[in-house]
Amino acid sequence: MRRLPKGFLLALGCILLVAACQRRPAAPRPNRKIDMHAHFGPDAVQHVIELMDHYGVDAIVNLSGGIPGHGLEQQLGAAARYPGRIFVFANLDWRQPLMGPGYGERMAAGLQRARALGARGIKIPKALGLGFTDYTGTLIKVDEPELDPVFERAGELGLPIAIHVGDPVAFWQPLGPENERFDELRVHPEWSFHGKPVPSWEELFAALERRVARHPRTTFISVHFGNAPEYPERVSALLDRYSNLLVDTAARVPEIGRHPARDMRALFQRHADRILFGTDLGVGVRQFDLMLGSTSDKPPTQSDVDHFFASTFRYFESGDRGLAHPTPIQGRWTIEGISLPPEVLRKVYGTNAERILGMTIPDSPGRSSASQ
Ligand SMILES: [Zn+2]
Repeated sequence: MRRLPKGFLLALGCILLVAACQRRPAAPRPNRKIDMHAHFGPDAVQHVIELMDHYGVDAIVNLSGGIPGHGLEQQLGAAARYPGRIFVFANLDWRQPLMGPGYGERMAAGLQRARALGARGIKIPKALGLGFTDYTGTLIKVDEPELDPVFERAGELGLPIAIHVGDPVAFWQPLGPENERFDELRVHPEWSFHGKPVPSWEELFAALERRVARHPRTTFISVHFGNAPEYPERVSALLDRYSNLLVDTAARVPEIGRHPARDMRALFQRHADRILFGTDLGVGVRQFDLMLGSTSDKPPTQSDVDHFFASTFRYFESGDRGLAHPTPIQGRWTIEGISLPPEVLRKVYGTNAERILGMTIPDSPGRSSASQ
């Protein structure tokens, strides 16, 4: 075979390269994703970052920050190792109500410290209204006036409050095979409130509304799709009524995915500025020490993790029908993708979170190559 001159080969190579580049236009960059709802300890941050890079999540909010002097400094220190990628919400000191009256003021003082240390918001778990007691042994109500200073101070400090109240409805219903969360309650029977001396789901939901109404200058993130994924029309009405209210989607794609896709798509479009992407991902140190919206009696497999992220993204982005939802233990039904328009997707996945966090999140290094 005759040898081709070197210059010819070089020129041919360049032509082929240019042609290849012209044939393949740059792939559209996937949307920036900020997961507004996750839980992990300071030792798990490396694992969290690996998951984020693999599944294309740019930034994440850790709602399990702890309180000043009890874990918050460590959580913020761990997050600081990955600037712009991990944000921390602090918690409240629920020992204060046990120590006597005036506890709301004392807890509010803790917010100032949390803010100064670098916390970006506050998370209140659903034990408020269901478990936390005061110095008289009384259950503290969601709209307990003693707590008013906490919510007011959060507003003054610009700290959004992510709050879990009641949800889900099924935990108030009898624990039998007819319960739609039976698979989950069978593994965690202690999660059921049926027949227990606690307020009803409706009472809790009404108290949450009174709380949101009382503090118009405070931003509320009502987690798990407004704490009422079973009733999207009620969530929509509250979003209309209270401009200081947002919701996240954490661990409730199975619930909201059951409603007609057309209705949910319209709801997302109507409230495009007020819905935050969240997963309720929990991450431990070991590879499969994960909570994918809920926990089962055995750890998840790699394919469970892949499915969790893929089906979550498919719900928002595709119009696929008969989709297996992200958290199989949360109900034996399929869901329908809502195929959000690009401008709505951009807000829900990222820009709403940036507004709430008060900053622009840079592109993460892993994003361009990550799966969407
Ligand atoms: Zn959570």
